[in-house]
Amino acid sequence: MSVKVGVRVRPFNSREKERESECIISMIQNQTKIKDELGQEKTFTFDHSFWSHDGFEATETGYLKAVDDRYADQQYVFNAVGKQILDNAWEGYHCCLFAYGQTGSGKSYSMVGYGVNKGIVPISCEEIFNRIKSNTDPDKSYEVQVSMLEIYNEKVQDLLVPAAKRPTHGLKVRESKVLGIFVEGLTKYPVQSYDEISKKMDEGYENRTIGSTLMNATSSRAHTIVTIECKQLTMIAGKKSEKLSMINLVDLAGSERAGSTGATGDRLKEGCNINKSLLVLGNVINALADKAMGKKKDVLPPYRDSALTRILQNALGGNSKTVMICALSPASINYEETLSTLRYADRAKKIQNKAVVNESEHDKMVRLLKEENVDLKRMIEELQKKLMGQGGVAQDGDKQAFMDLK
Ligand code: ADP
Ligand code: MG
Repeated sequence: MSVKVGVRVRPFNSREKERESECIISMIQNQTKIKDELGQEKTFTFDHSFWSHDGFEATETGYLKAVDDRYADQQYVFNAVGKQILDNAWEGYHCCLFAYGQTGSGKSYSMVGYGVNKGIVPISCEEIFNRIKSNTDPDKSYEVQVSMLEIYNEKVQDLLVPAAKRPTHGLKVRESKVLGIFVEGLTKYPVQSYDEISKKMDEGYENRTIGSTLMNATSSRAHTIVTIECKQLTMIAGKKSEKLSMINLVDLAGSERAGSTGATGDRLKEGCNINKSLLVLGNVINALADKAMGKKKDVLPPYRDSALTRILQNALGGNSKTVMICALSPASINYEETLSTLRYADRAKKIQNKAVVNESEHDKMVRLLKEENVDLKRMIEELQKKLMGQGGVAQDGDKQAFMDLK
């Protein structure tokens, strides 16, 4: 199963309108074309091409809705990609949605949205609780937990903890047999309703580090990951069985190269580190794409080289159904960045993942714990033998301690 990729082109912003920019992107069905200054076109094919450049009007509430059948509004984009993610989550698959693109290209608009133009994340949360509410099976119950983190300068921070209370060096990413890859100390909040989850997320977004660059004064220079953990518990013949799905929603920092946004000093350092995570993400995507095409099969993708790729290892080359939305600027001044985004997207769609249903995690956990237990027992026995051999006889106290451990 390959990573699904969609591209979305936004309207001109006011600066581009003032300069009477020309739109260099065109879309016909699932084809996206970009035109250079000589008028020559390059064509790309993606799973989805979302035209959100023109053909819309604002309703009384401010919602941008289509006036022709080309325009893709927020609900359309959700129906095309978000719904599929929820369906997959309901079946017990891990899912991941990325938004990639330069600062100001529309990543946050697609993921979170602005005002009444809600993005995929809030619509998904609403849907999750609608689905839970509509369940009539008394043997079924659900548990939903949310966590939110940001990666800023390669440091991982908990967005659901106020900035003043966070550790200066950030949280550690760890790996264990039982839990897989996890962020140590990251808080997870159980949520019972849409209001609860949206309140938590608003809190997180407010806590987010916001830096300003010349290009987009409100856009974040950090990667933001919202994780929604959905557990479905079913009683089958008196036995509890469970399905677990982790939905990762990732709003990446701007993909532009440092320098082009007028970054200096601290901003430049941020830029370098942001680019480190994105650079490694690019390298991982390239390695996975090569692998999928039968090239360089034995090369291990460099997941461990950045915080972002470590955390998202599963979403990228592992057990997850993954979707990437690449946000495009329509303006000719952004030609180079937009072309680089299209090329990135083109590589991403070649990645093959192996998603499996995560049923009865509990049973798996018990098995892994048993395995770990056997390993530990063997270690203790070896240690015991060693001690016996060394000092002749181990003290009774030592022996008792070993027995307690066992
Ligand atoms: P990014 O997160 O990539 O830095 P934003 O999502 O913040 O960019 O978008 C930049 C600006 O463009 C915002 O003011 C946003 O409202 C607007 N915008 C982006 N995409 C769309 C769209 N599809 N329709 C209308 N406005 C959009
Ligand atoms: Mg943004």
